[in-house]
Amino acid sequence: MEQFEKLKLLLKQLPGIGEKSAERLIFSIISKGVGYSSLLSDEIKAVAESVKICSNCGGYGETNPCEICSDKKRDKGILMVLERPRDVFLFEKSKRYRGRYHILGKLISPIDGITPEKIGIENLTERIKREEIKEVILSLPPTTEGETTAIFLSRTLEGLVETVSTIARGVPFGSDFEFIDEYTLQRSIDKRQKWTD
Ligand SMILES: [Zn+2]
Repeated sequence: MEQFEKLKLLLKQLPGIGEKSAERLIFSIISKGVGYSSLLSDEIKAVAESVKICSNCGGYGETNPCEICSDKKRDKGILMVLERPRDVFLFEKSKRYRGRYHILGKLISPIDGITPEKIGIENLTERIKREEIKEVILSLPPTTEGETTAIFLSRTLEGLVETVSTIARGVPFGSDFEFIDEYTLQRSIDKRQKWTD
């Protein structure tokens, strides 16, 4: 079945989808009929076309600037620094944070050739000055790269903002935010600490 194999190859490019899961998904799509599959393909195309990277924060949004950057009700004095656009969804789901975000896109990793100059620090420092940010919360993953980046940022931002704080110390080392439950994430925001080396 040529079509079956073609779709299977595409699905297997997605995270967490192996041979068996891909086959299970395709059988399920077939069993739901043509109406469902055309709706599914339309929606997949629509989401890929409508979601863009916000030129202000680097996060995902259907508008540019994104919905969060343009929301006047958000606390303008606080900026949370994250690694990936999808991390925003986790913190939004926790409903504890009312500031705005800044997405780095990558972390310092000398082994991969990502030096401190390559994480777009000017975008961040310019934004802090332009938007008169008072507190920066470093919410980078508790990994070696995350820690290295947090140390570099805390030193660079010293004197530029009143407070640099971190939530990373509330979450276990080496874990991915994605696998942390909402309660722990909420607690880590509430109990965030002033950054100290
Ligand atoms: Zn934005």
